[in-house]
Formats: sequence, structure tokens, C-alpha cells
Amino acid sequence: PVTQTADINRLLLDMLTLVQTETDAKNIKVVKKFSSDIPKIKTDPPLLRQVFLNLLNNAVQAVEGNGEIVVTTWSCDDMAFAQISDTGPGIPEAQLKQIFNPFYTTKPPGKGTGLGLSVSLRIVNQLGGYITVESEQGMGASFTVHVPV
Ligand code: ADP
Ligand code: MG
Repeated sequence: PVTQTADINRLLLDMLTLVQTETDAKNIKVVKKFSSDIPKIKTDPPLLRQVFLNLLNNAVQAVEGNGEIVVTTWSCDDMAFAQISDTGPGIPEAQLKQIFNPFYTTKPPGKGTGLGLSVSLRIVNQLGGYITVESEQGMGASFTVHVPV
């Protein structure tokens, strides 16, 4: 599926537009810290958009009103990075090992399928990259997508 080149900032901006109604409604402040000199990435744009949307949706759902979502991009050597951090409740250590498992969800029935992260990880792996997560309970969560340029 890796047949096109894309601007990672552009893909994120497109998905931020999609969640803007929700972030506005919940009074979530969205901060963009985009590097302007990231090389184009070789990717499948629709698939990577889906990954960013999944991560943004999780962040929006995690953050209470007046919280913040920070979206940061940078590159280093032949990798580009997109990080989505939120000021939500975070993820307890014991759950971190499970969140990428298919159907793992802590959301009430009907609210979450538990597929967002497992599908996202599979997509990013197919694109030659990986996803890391950092979180401490009560301190928010931060997901970083690593993809080759
Ligand atoms: P779903 O969103 O349908 O529950 P996901 O695979 O997207 O499924 O996420 C799995 C679980 O990981 C969530 O139910 C939640 O417990 C945890 N999680 C994911 N993102 C966050 C986040 N930003 N903050 C807190 N918990 C999160
Ligand atoms: Mg989800």
C-alpha cells in the first residue's frame, strides 16, 4: 500500500479538522507544534489518516472539558514522528500492556470497540513503523507514531 508520498503535517491537519467540532464543544485546547522541515513520507495516506483519527478520537474521549491536546511532529534521520498527547486521566501501568490488544476497551458497551489501537498498530507496522505510548495514571497519555520518511 506504500505507493505515495505525503506531508505528515498535512495528514494530521486534515484529521484535526474532522475532530474540531468535538474539541470545540468540549472546550479542549488544541496545540500544534509542527516541525516545518520534515521530509515527505512514503506512505498510504488514507491508512495513516485513519491512524491519526483513531489516536485523536481517543484523546478527545479521554480529555475532560478545558483539557488540552498537543500534537507535535518532528523528524530525525530517516524517521518522522507524530505525537498526540492529552491531559486526560492517563493509562494505569497494568493496562498499558493490553491497550493494543484487539477488543481491549475500558469504555462502556456501545462506546468503544477496542479495535482502534490494534488496527492502528497493524497499519503503522505495515507502513514500516511503530507506535509507542507513554502514560502515567493521572498524568495524561502520549502516543507517538514513528514512520519512515
Ligand atoms: P476504544 O477507543 O474503542 O476503547 P482503542 O483500541 O482505541 O479502543 O483503545 C483501547 C483502550 O486504551 C481504551 O479503551 C482506553 O482504555 C485506552 N486508551 C487509549 N487511548 C487513551 C488515551 N488517550 N487516554 C487514556 N486511555 C486511553
Ligand atoms: Mg479508540
